[in-house]
Amino acid sequence: MSERRRKFWGWGYEGDGISDSEAAAVASRLAAAFGADAVRDRQPPRLEDLDLRAPRVAPPLALAEVFTDAPHERASHAYGKSYRDLARAWRGEAPNPPDLVALPAGEDDIVRVLEWAANERVAVVPYGGGSSVVGGVEPEVGDEYRGAVSLDLRRLDRVLDVDTESRAALIEAGVYGPRLEAELRPHDLTLRHFPQSFEFSSLGGWIATRSGGHYATLYAHIDEFVESLRVVTPRGVLETRRLPASGAGPSPERLFCGSEGTLGVITQAWMRLQDRPRARAGATVSFPDFLAGARGVRAVAQAGLHPANCRLIDPVEALLAGAGDGSSALLILAFESPGHDVAPWLEAALELCREQGGTVEPPRERSGADDDRAGAWRRTFLRMPYVYERVVGFGMVNGTFETAITWDRFADFHEGVSSELAKRTNEICGGAIVSVRFTYVYPDGPAPYYTVTAPARDGSELAQWDELKAAVSDAIVGLGGTITHHHAVGREHRPWYEQEAAPLFQEALRGAKRELDPAGILNPGVLIDP
Ligand SMILES: Cc1cc2nc3c(=O)[nH]c(=O)nc-3n(C[C@H](O)[C@H](O)[C@H](O)COP(=O)(O)OP(=O)(O)OC[C@H]3O[C@@H](n4cnc5c(N)ncnc54)[C@H](O)[C@@H]3O)c2cc1C
Repeated sequence: MSERRRKFWGWGYEGDGISDSEAAAVASRLAAAFGADAVRDRQPPRLEDLDLRAPRVAPPLALAEVFTDAPHERASHAYGKSYRDLARAWRGEAPNPPDLVALPAGEDDIVRVLEWAANERVAVVPYGGGSSVVGGVEPEVGDEYRGAVSLDLRRLDRVLDVDTESRAALIEAGVYGPRLEAELRPHDLTLRHFPQSFEFSSLGGWIATRSGGHYATLYAHIDEFVESLRVVTPRGVLETRRLPASGAGPSPERLFCGSEGTLGVITQAWMRLQDRPRARAGATVSFPDFLAGARGVRAVAQAGLHPANCRLIDPVEALLAGAGDGSSALLILAFESPGHDVAPWLEAALELCREQGGTVEPPRERSGADDDRAGAWRRTFLRMPYVYERVVGFGMVNGTFETAITWDRFADFHEGVSSELAKRTNEICGGAIVSVRFTYVYPDGPAPYYTVTAPARDGSELAQWDELKAAVSDAIVGLGGTITHHHAVGREHRPWYEQEAAPLFQEALRGAKRELDPAGILNPGVLIDP
């Protein structure tokens, strides 16, 4: 049976996506917002129309079976899934395709690829699911290299060992979310880490980018689950010790969490697991506006209740998701546990919300198990990557800004970012739909996530997005937020990361890079200025 191919230009497998009638409904919503002329009718890009330059390097004979230069593989590894990536794919542009794609079958192949690349002055870009939205997997490595290789770990996709006593598993880095969870299910265990990109992103990618899962409190980033790591660096293989915790110096695992493929290739990790949840309770609370909702969320986040979901969505997002009528902000609250009844936890959280002016909504009529407000929001959330690829095709600028800020500065910060977004989208695009939600909340602050959809001028969409991205990113960092809460730095966020991170820390990171990757072949341009 032939393997299903991923789309090189969008989300998921070839042939998968929203239906024609769903696409027509999206197009008519966009036309209602921006006028029919703003919506373009384009067919998805075809591989044969892509401008793919010829490979500049050939694989050595000894590694011939590890490499491929098949056009579909090269095109699929030419970029990630950010707005810039999709917009360029729709325009048939792939300015930085890898010359070769390596598909190692195991760690030995990775060692040999790195040796060859260091000797030949070829850059190596580690690749998990390719869902980076920050230019993390695009081989844009500059002219100092003879070529660039995308090192795809998809063949390293097994759960190798499960320690049910300690509740941990040894897992290969290239496994995507669904397979990982399917292999843990017979043990009644779960990693319980569900980023929106779960279907097509990998364990190694999650660790390398410090990804954030769905669960809105307590365990947000993957870091908390990493017990130990195995990493192939150009200097050799490094393995950390399996321990529940250690106070022996700075954590070696944390050096690689967020290293974005610049220090080594993560090949395996022992991951902490959890029992599968059995008890659940949830409710939806409405608030007159987003700031009122934020007060309710702060009260819940600081009460030590740890809801599994604590997703505040503004009236615009509530309307777009079919979860509300656009007149109020909604807080989707849910508690889960493997055993104990969580109803008292939910009741305590609802009481805190009522004290802050929230109204607990009566459950909406259900036609199926899921047909309530939270269900409507969740279905929209999971379909979103497929909708997003079509929205770009309709000629819209469609991007996100995600950040975090402490509660004491949140109200001013949100006001500043929202007004910058309104002003700049008006100037640059002539209007936009802007929505905001909290993706995660902590006792000391929220992680707001702004989504922008705006009409673009044919041919100028990248320039429009770059201008908007720069202005809003300046505002986010200028107002004291972080350039990224969970999407990572990559190439796109590096200018703001350099403003945000302490200069001496950046110097220390460069020192680690020099030690582990002396020839500088690993993902040049990402995270660290080469
Ligand atoms: C629709 C959509 C939804 C998303 N939702 C979320 C979300 O909910 N939460 C979230 O945190 N992010 C989200 N993202 C961003 C992205 O999915 C995450 O950054 C994810 O962790 C990347 O995993 P990946 O396997 O696709 O990595 P890739 O995109 O393949 O790589 C990302 C970076 O990690 C490096 N890397 C990959 N594998 C390894 C390895 N084994 N060793 C060393 N370096 C490696 C790469 O070189 C690159 O720098 C979303 C993206 C999209 C397109």
